[in-house]
Amino acid sequence: MARLVISLLLCAAAAVHGGNHEKYEGHQLYRVAGSSEEIATLEASLDILSATPAARTLSGRLEALVRLSPEEKQSWLAYFDSKNMPYTKVADNLAEIIRDEGAKNVAAKSAAKRSGRSISWDAYYSHDEINDYLDELGQQYPNLVTVINAGLSYEGRQIKYVRISTTRFEILRKPVIVIDAAVHAREWVTPPVALYIINQLVVDVVNQRLTDEIDWVIIPLANPDGYEYSIHEDRMWRKTRSRSHAGSDSCPGVDGNRNFDHEWGTRPDSAVPCSLIYEGPSAFSEPEIRVIRDAVNRDLDRTKLYISLHSYGNMFLYAWGSNGTLPSNGLVLHLAGVMMAQAIDNLALDKADRYIVGNAANVLYFSSGTSRDWTRAVGIPYTYTLELPGYEYGFLVPPEYTRQIVTETWAGIETGATYILNTM
Ligand code: ZN
Repeated sequence: MARLVISLLLCAAAAVHGGNHEKYEGHQLYRVAGSSEEIATLEASLDILSATPAARTLSGRLEALVRLSPEEKQSWLAYFDSKNMPYTKVADNLAEIIRDEGAKNVAAKSAAKRSGRSISWDAYYSHDEINDYLDELGQQYPNLVTVINAGLSYEGRQIKYVRISTTRFEILRKPVIVIDAAVHAREWVTPPVALYIINQLVVDVVNQRLTDEIDWVIIPLANPDGYEYSIHEDRMWRKTRSRSHAGSDSCPGVDGNRNFDHEWGTRPDSAVPCSLIYEGPSAFSEPEIRVIRDAVNRDLDRTKLYISLHSYGNMFLYAWGSNGTLPSNGLVLHLAGVMMAQAIDNLALDKADRYIVGNAANVLYFSSGTSRDWTRAVGIPYTYTLELPGYEYGFLVPPEYTRQIVTETWAGIETGATYILNTM
């Protein structure tokens, strides 16, 4: 017990100090332009925070936001010069930005606690807090919400998700929608969006038809090890925390969104353990990704829509990211994506980029082993990677923006769900 109290105190101290993020002292962010291949090549050896489609950039080329440490900065800038890749500095000190975000979140959480609510839409929450909230919903709405203890993460954290149904998943003509969040640890704004979707279906019940006629599977925190690591150790952590592959002593973790069994092993950039987009030693090597696989497979034949929540860049991306060609239903896949995107754009902040909808490889670059491609390949007709807004903050969206993002994204989800019903 004493040990628990001490570790809780340590956690609280880490939260106040924003974790051990000193390693980003003096790291600068640069925006660099290049061809799709040039940017994809960078992804293997640099931390790419986001990529901006060429259609949206002044340079008319694909642009990547990259993090450069003081030690590596000169050699990378020389490399960009040698390749004729134009670049500009965007931010001077990443550690400072992380400290700001941490301080704001501490303030937001204590304000929420004072108001007596168990969760608010103005703060980020820990894995334990999110799990407790899911259990609370399961107890309050036993006829609607089933909390699944889906299995343990690599480090032993319980991954929970919810199955939402007015008919206990027994009516086999009802379509199923599956949504996951936080496969990438540092994309903190994604769990609140998943929790808000649950809230709209279960607590506030804004559109009864969406639960009367659809069953839902929602996984709000798919990668708890990485997520907790991003809170306490390294705000920019993206991968899982597994150590089951060769080279994992120096480079632990796998990119969960390269670990699915579709065209797995076909991109050399993803085969390197230290790469940010490392695919893992085998497809579905990660327990966290097997949880998603099994949750999807459970009602596969009637699952119509799958959305993986990511951050950031305001994009709905569809298959095939592995080679840039279109699935057989490419036209309606695009149509449904546009409808969801427009519903979000209608509510978006003026300063937000309008959503781009398109084939993942054509909008950005090739990628293998993604959940979007795998879910399409196993037969779900509508599958997307949804990149939420980052505004000028990227992953480090201050908590005061979460309410805006969850609200507008719900409008997109509601539109997508209604589209599914209307086309059955
Ligand atoms: Zn992501």
